[in-house]
Amino acid sequence: QQQAGEALRILNEYAANYFHDFLLNSEEGQLIGLSYFKQRGFRKEIIERFRLGYNAEYNDQFFQTSVAKGHNKDLLEKAGLIKNRNGIYHDVYRGRVIFPIQSMTGRILGFGARILKSNEKAPKYINTPENELYLKSKILYGMYQSRTAIGKQDECFLVEGYTDVISLHQGGVENVVASSGTSLTEDQLRLIGQLTRNLTILYDGDAAGIKAALRGLDMALGQSFNVQLVLLPDGEDPDSFIQKSGVTRFHEFVKEHKQDVISFRLQIGLIDVGSDPVKKSKLVNEIAESISRINKAEDFALQEHYIKTASAKLQVDETGLVNLVNKYIR
Ligand code: ATP
Ligand code: MN
Ligand code: MN
Ligand code: MN
Repeated sequence: QQQAGEALRILNEYAANYFHDFLLNSEEGQLIGLSYFKQRGFRKEIIERFRLGYNAEYNDQFFQTSVAKGHNKDLLEKAGLIKNRNGIYHDVYRGRVIFPIQSMTGRILGFGARILKSNEKAPKYINTPENELYLKSKILYGMYQSRTAIGKQDECFLVEGYTDVISLHQGGVENVVASSGTSLTEDQLRLIGQLTRNLTILYDGDAAGIKAALRGLDMALGQSFNVQLVLLPDGEDPDSFIQKSGVTRFHEFVKEHKQDVISFRLQIGLIDVGSDPVKKSKLVNEIAESISRINKAEDFALQEHYIKTASAKLQVDETGLVNLVNKYIR
């Protein structure tokens, strides 16, 4: 187990260097991969900081080179770098730009690879399959590059995607990690918790983003994070926002739109409720359940603050809400 992990680690390091070198120094890499990154506004310095890469569109060049260098086929397959189809091996990431995923200490655990054409049926991103190094639920993209800034600023931004992390870094916002599309896990939250208690969720301004954010929020509340949320304009993500509007506007927007969990739930919920008493009752219960997640012994004042805000906005009796919250605590 230990030894297999070590071999995988060496292979991943080799592959990351290969793809990075191929991006910067091969004709195809420059013409296709590098142009793609340039067109997205990624500069050389940031491409290097995140060790971004590219692999050739056709054939099995990476596979052939790796085997010639003495790397093991089974291990290459386990690492999700090659596939065997009818006895013939081929590269998995073909004609894709590549994002190495690093541990908190900089080890390469796996990869995300993005397709360049958007009209194809193939998935937009391919990721390393679960193996003893790539344990998806325990990884946050950007942790290695961001950990110092997260500690210094005593705040962590949580975004959805690789390119969000990269664009924010390039803009000078270096306290940011991504959950990479999957919903946030308890383990990922604990990783962030080693660096700060202040979490600001910055998910895409679409329905999927809102849904994912709500799940993350409740989990973060349960772990006693001071968690805030910023909803981006519909259709924007942190990458597109900062590339279009710049870092000053980004900070302004965050400041203006940061809200706590309960306010967010109320905002989303009240739009839907209108004057429907059944829907309102359901919302009151959801809010009470959310508030009940705050550890009362540790965060009494916070819980009280949420109860006051919520009862005012929902126009329900404060004592009644307290009773309901207490019901959910058990
Ligand atoms: P881009 O700006 O390059 O389109 P994005 O990060 O904005 O990328 P989203 O569609 O918002 O892409 O997805 C957010 C994240 O979810 C991605 O960065 C990736 O980690 C993950 N993801 C998206 N699509 C897939 C997929 N088909 N398979 C696996 N993971 C995916
Ligand atoms: Mn999205
Ligand atoms: Mn995007
Ligand atoms: Mn996105």
